[in-house]
Amino acid sequence: MPTFDLGNNRIVYSVIKGTSRSYTYFRFRPDLTLEVVVPRGRRVDVEWAISQKVGEIRKEYQRAVKTRLILGPGTVMYDGRILKVVYSEATNGLVPLLDSGELLVNTTDPRRLKELVRRWFLKESSTYVVKKVRELAPKVGARPRTVDVREIGKWGYCTQSGRLSFSWQLIALPEKLREYVVFHELTHLVEFNHSPAFRRRLAAVCSDFRERERELDLVRPYDRLSLD
Ligand SMILES: [Zn+2]
Repeated sequence: MPTFDLGNNRIVYSVIKGTSRSYTYFRFRPDLTLEVVVPRGRRVDVEWAISQKVGEIRKEYQRAVKTRLILGPGTVMYDGRILKVVYSEATNGLVPLLDSGELLVNTTDPRRLKELVRRWFLKESSTYVVKKVRELAPKVGARPRTVDVREIGKWGYCTQSGRLSFSWQLIALPEKLREYVVFHELTHLVEFNHSPAFRRRLAAVCSDFRERERELDLVRPYDRLSLD
C-alpha cells in the first residue's frame, strides 16, 4: 500500500471511491491507516490531494491516536483501563486480573469473547448504575422510577415517565465519564431537552461536563453509541 510522511510518522493509506461527486475526504481506521475517499466518477491526483490537506489530516491523526476502543484487537477497556486479552485453557469463562492488567479467557473465538465480555459488562454496569443513580439523583433533584442496563445504541436514555436506561458498555468507561453519563440522564428528568436551562443545571452538579463530553467522544464503543 502507498505511504506518505506526516511529521515523524509514516502513514499507510488506501484509496476508496466514495458516494460524493465532488469531495475528497480522509479518515483513519483504528489501526491508524488512512482511507482517502475520492469522489465517484472523477479522477483525483491523490498525492496532490494529500499535500493540500496536511493540516486536516494531522488533526484527524491526532484524534485517531487518542481514540480508545472498548473492544480492540486483543484488548478490552474496563474501568477506563485497557486490559490485554490472554488465552488460558484452564480459565472458566472470563477472569479479569486487574492488578496485572490482563483478562483471561478460555476462547480464541472473537464472537464468544464478545459474548463473555457482554455478560460481564451487563452485570457490572447494572450494579454500577443502581448504586450511582441512588447517589446522584438527590443532587440533581431528579426522581427516576426505574433504572436498567440494556443493549441500546446510546450511552444513556430516558423517558419522560422517569425510566432510565444505560448501555451495557458503561462499565468500560473511566469513573469520571460514566458518572457524567449518569448526571446527563438524571438532568433530563428535570429538563427534557438540551436547552441552556439543561446545561446550566448539568453544570451546577458537574462543572467540567464539557471536558468530560469531549473525552467521551474519543471512546469508540463496540457498537456505535451516542448520548441522546
Ligand atoms: Zn441528552
